[in-house]
Amino acid sequence: KYILAIESSCDDTSAAVLSNAKVLSNVVATQEIHKQYGGVVPELASRAHQQNIVPVVHQALAKANIDKKQLSAIAFTRGPGLMGSLLVGTSFAKSLALGLDIPLIEVNHMEAHILAHFIEDADQTAPKFPFLGMTISGGHTQIVKVTDYFTMEVLGETLDDAVGEAFDKSAKLMGLPYPGGPLIDKYAKLGNPKAFPFPKPKVDGLNFSFSGLKTSILYFLQRETQKNPNFVEEHMNDICASVQHTILEILMDKLQLAVDQTGIKQIAIGGGVAANSGIRSRLREAEEKLGWQTFIPKFEYCTDNAAMIGIVGYLKFTKGKFTDQSIAAKARYAIGS
Ligand code: ATP
Ligand code: FE
Repeated sequence: KYILAIESSCDDTSAAVLSNAKVLSNVVATQEIHKQYGGVVPELASRAHQQNIVPVVHQALAKANIDKKQLSAIAFTRGPGLMGSLLVGTSFAKSLALGLDIPLIEVNHMEAHILAHFIEDADQTAPKFPFLGMTISGGHTQIVKVTDYFTMEVLGETLDDAVGEAFDKSAKLMGLPYPGGPLIDKYAKLGNPKAFPFPKPKVDGLNFSFSGLKTSILYFLQRETQKNPNFVEEHMNDICASVQHTILEILMDKLQLAVDQTGIKQIAIGGGVAANSGIRSRLREAEEKLGWQTFIPKFEYCTDNAAMIGIVGYLKFTKGKFTDQSIAAKARYAIGS
């Protein structure tokens, strides 16, 4: 079975072709236009999706060496995400499925970030049920109990900023360009994580909060630059290492609590922040010290991509979970709903 998948929830236009659970192509057009604004501008994102969608789909089909007449179904991101962005992918998927007279499959973007682990890939092993999924991205921070492909329960999530936002906003305060997460990761490698201690938020249970951290970094930088205007440039590596360390402590504390509460020691992470080298080494450490089993998808399946939409499409296809032409995009779309 060949499935075409389309992702357009935020600022990446992506199309993929899967043959069953194998990825034949996964094309991602990243919108550069948002860089100059220091964040995603929804209206511009929607317009760029309109320009990108046809060439991106053509490219995905060409790379997979598949004619559109060979497709068995079309999967698309229904939500959550920016409404204007979602509408482009949703309308495109609906019209193409109608034109080709093949089934349509709707996909929840956050479930896809978790099910990306089931893409069949030589360097990737899948977790076994039940496992804990932690999605750490630009818009979400969630710990999810995954009992089966389509039985998921959110155990905790952020009450304010997402972890990716915490990285990006901290980077912005240091004068780094958007998105600053990868840059903090890069400089953190050269710095001392204990140089500047930042307070950890006190949030009960498995929920997260990152907005307080941003505020304490802001006050810290204001105080220090008053004494020394070159403070940030002179201490970039140490500040980045300290910020990253605090964020990782928050994530690891909550994971530990989730493991204690559920007794589940298999942890599968996903989302753009899963690319962070610090979280990767902390998870490896937990494997050795705590006997956890951890799973991290390949980098291209961590950030937004259509291959992860395609694997959910394939799993739903095998179960006959199709949708009809009356389907509408959903900006807020909870996991398991
Ligand atoms: P969502 O999936 O919640 O809709 P999104 O799709 O915008 O959000 P992703 O593309 O999954 O988010 O992730 C982007 C985020 O990942 C950005 O905030 C970026 O800074 C962060 N990020 C990427 N690489 C790294 C890294 N190496 N270290 C820290 N953060 C990173
Ligand atoms: Fe995402």
